[in-house]
Amino acid sequence: MINQHKNGQKLIGELQVILNELERFASTVDQYVITSSTDLEGNITSVSEAFSNISGYQEEELIGKKHDILKHPDVDEEVYATLWKTISSGDTWHGELHNLNKSGHSYWVDATIEPSINEKAEMVGYIAIQQDITDKKRIEELTITDDLTGVYNRRHFDQSLRREMDRARRTKQYLCMLMIDADNFKKYNDTYGHQAGDWVLKGIAKQMKSTFKRAGDMSFRLGGEEFAVLFHVEEKALAIKISNLFREGIFDNNIEHSRNTPHQRLTISGGLMILEPNKVYIEEEIYKYADEALYRAKNNGRNRIEIHQEGEVEFF
Ligand code: GH3
Ligand code: MG
Ligand code: MG
Repeated sequence: MINQHKNGQKLIGELQVILNELERFASTVDQYVITSSTDLEGNITSVSEAFSNISGYQEEELIGKKHDILKHPDVDEEVYATLWKTISSGDTWHGELHNLNKSGHSYWVDATIEPSINEKAEMVGYIAIQQDITDKKRIEELTITDDLTGVYNRRHFDQSLRREMDRARRTKQYLCMLMIDADNFKKYNDTYGHQAGDWVLKGIAKQMKSTFKRAGDMSFRLGGEEFAVLFHVEEKALAIKISNLFREGIFDNNIEHSRNTPHQRLTISGGLMILEPNKVYIEEEIYKYADEALYRAKNNGRNRIEIHQEGEVEFF
């Protein structure tokens, strides 16, 4: 009897040790692993401490909210649409998400989101496990950013064109490439100095980003005083309108450029290429067409946008 009691106490002691270890383990996971659960509608039901730390929100502030309160405005709707389509049909989604924390700072996570299943094998919600990849993304971003202007560089343009063409085919939208070039810029440098020239280039990039600001719009500096934008539209007329809006924006900034006749202010010319979603193009062709249209804009008096017309005589 006494022995049995002693054995029982020993067992309880051992169980206690295991429980303590489990608790320690759970608390470590809670502290270091960014996890969250939601119900089937995507309302958050719990988050780990690590989730609170990275997002800057307390658990109480997140419960009942949807994950999109963390969504960075740059994220394309398509990302979340695909995510939802995948998980609501019972599959696991894996990808990178760009978020904003409570104080408005951006962070990146590599996320795996999967349905959570109850004991009756019914889907009751979703579980997300995320990893902070902000540092990796920052380094990646540096390699694709133009130092002077902060827009994407030429290397990234080459990488993006193919991807944007594929996307346009999927979404049945028009992909547009606007190539722009500052007018008489050599004369600007000669008159006002290279440093002033650099300042102008930064201004053009800034204007570009504030005009082409829809999620998915991408601005690039291709080199020198030449820039490009890749953007998607549902109607061709909008592409022409927004390209001219950008040109007028630069004109309205009224930056003195005395030798840029007849305007005596900074102007830009542009070549616009609108891709038909159902047509197959090769990348070089798009670049060439936009460049040809730009060349026409220069020849036709500058401070204008020319559009590549399908079916016109084309020669390599
Ligand atoms: P157009 O109207 O036909 O485009 O004439 P342009 O003078 O603008 O064209 P051109 O290609 O002859 O000259 C481009 C000039 O851009 C030459 C160079 O001094 C200037 N440039 C290129 N890169 C930079 C840069 O990083 N900073 C500055 N400040 N100037 C640059
Ligand atoms: Mg120029
Ligand atoms: Mg040029």
